[in-house]
Amino acid sequence: MNAGKPGNVPSCDHCDEPAIFFNPYLQCHLCDRHLCHSVEQRVIDSITRHGMVRDGDRIAVGLSGGKDSSVLLSILSGIIPERLDAELVAITVDEGIAGYREETIQSAISLTTQLGISHHIVSFKSLFGFTLDSLLEVHPPRACTACGILRKKALSDAAKEIAATSIATGHNLDDSAQSVLMNYLRGDFERLLRDSSSIGDRGFIRRIKPLQDVNEKEITLYSMIKGITGRLPECPYATTAFRAEVRTLQAAIEYHYPGASHRIIHGQEELVTMAQRVVAGRTIDHCSVCGDPCSGTICQACGFLAGLQRRE
Ligand code: SF4
Ligand code: ZN
Repeated sequence: MNAGKPGNVPSCDHCDEPAIFFNPYLQCHLCDRHLCHSVEQRVIDSITRHGMVRDGDRIAVGLSGGKDSSVLLSILSGIIPERLDAELVAITVDEGIAGYREETIQSAISLTTQLGISHHIVSFKSLFGFTLDSLLEVHPPRACTACGILRKKALSDAAKEIAATSIATGHNLDDSAQSVLMNYLRGDFERLLRDSSSIGDRGFIRRIKPLQDVNEKEITLYSMIKGITGRLPECPYATTAFRAEVRTLQAAIEYHYPGASHRIIHGQEELVTMAQRVVAGRTIDHCSVCGDPCSGTICQACGFLAGLQRRE
């Protein structure tokens, strides 16, 4: 490691430029150019290692317009179709969150226009008949639970509509480690072991997470260096989320034990592999309402919507 001259900013480990980032897990200092290269390389490595892209794939990128999904689309557009035989399209779900979604949707529109990528916008209002804001006024379930279930359904319906073969989401290393911890803390082992990337052939549309090896700070820096997104508002419901509490916990664990997030995710991957034999023997049913594949008689989204109707 090049520590630079005493009293000075350390130099990049790969060149003489000043480092702007230190990765305690990889124990390396990186300048802006080499940080971007390192991020892009890890995306390519993840895609290759997990076989995320297959020849002829039509990949629907879930583009919220925030920094994670915008960085994902931007990196993928640099490697597809030049290096991978696939096609990219973008889908934005408008949940109907006043004071937040308008700006991120504009950001998504300008990015897809700039990259020349086909962009589809779907809304809760047109799909379910209500916005997230209006739903929460009448039924106040935890905002992120309702939003997450319905957005997943909206994204997968829109992806099917445009004949996409997989859905790419901007989940990063921190998000993935938080999701594993949340499933443990809820005791939700069904969800912990559900690996949608490996059950795509059994009726579910494959979901891939090419940023799964890149942490949030690296994505923020990448977005700033490349000028991908400007300052965007935060979702007003973000602070109410269970995830917000788990994020604080995960950040503290990672700070004290660098690499803990990688170990949490690798542990979960091992568990998924071990459980695959059990899952492979299980039959997949179809939702009695919408026909989507699911493990019971009704899928999570239709179960959620039916629960709302019962309370009316
Ligand atoms: Fe939806 Fe929660 Fe994300 Fe806001 S913070 S967009 S409510 S999941
Ligand atoms: Zn460098």
